[in-house]
Amino acid sequence: MTPREQRNERLAKTLIKNLQRRHIEGFYCATAEEAVKKVSELIEDGSSVTWGGTMTVRDLGIPEALKKRGTLDVLDRDLVVTPEEKQAMYLRAFSVDVYLSSANAISEDGVIVNIDGNGNRVAAITWGPKKVIFVVGMNKVAQTAEAALARARSTASPINAARFDIKTPCQIDGVCHNCNSTDSICNYVHFLRNSPRGRHTVVLVGEDLGY
Ligand code: SF4
Repeated sequence: MTPREQRNERLAKTLIKNLQRRHIEGFYCATAEEAVKKVSELIEDGSSVTWGGTMTVRDLGIPEALKKRGTLDVLDRDLVVTPEEKQAMYLRAFSVDVYLSSANAISEDGVIVNIDGNGNRVAAITWGPKKVIFVVGMNKVAQTAEAALARARSTASPINAARFDIKTPCQIDGVCHNCNSTDSICNYVHFLRNSPRGRHTVVLVGEDLGY
């Protein structure tokens, strides 16, 4: 095991304990392959499933793996094109059995931070789907909730703005200007700090995933 792998495993163990205190179940998968298997195991046959905007879930090939099972109702948000179809898909997401998401960052003590432009993802994380599974690369772990927010603002959001070629101030110099642009992708800032009804699960992955 490399020193990085050792550190990831130890940190994940600590994080999982801290998530438990928040009524959030946590798992650690050392590899992408294990993570895909774990996510699939967490979803019962016959479940309806969809996901929020997440590079991690897509890069891991989770949608394809779930479709391949043939026992799930997979609502593929990536197949809808028109604004009307997207609106309908976002509304349907509130009533699925399982909603998959990544996180923009997570603190060592288990606070999960997400920033949204439209708000549909953080809305579904907050309410609606029976179960929410976060798939999070260990590169997203920050020391504190404040550091997690800083990571989301200084790393994830500017990269996402570049990904969608949105004309925000961070597109010019790569730095967050805490903008109030009408194009801002940082309209909703979400901290998940407790899950008393046990809706949330976190699968940590010992690889660099997403932004
Ligand atoms: S400049 Fe605006 S859009 Fe870019 S990261 Fe900051 S708040 Fe978000």
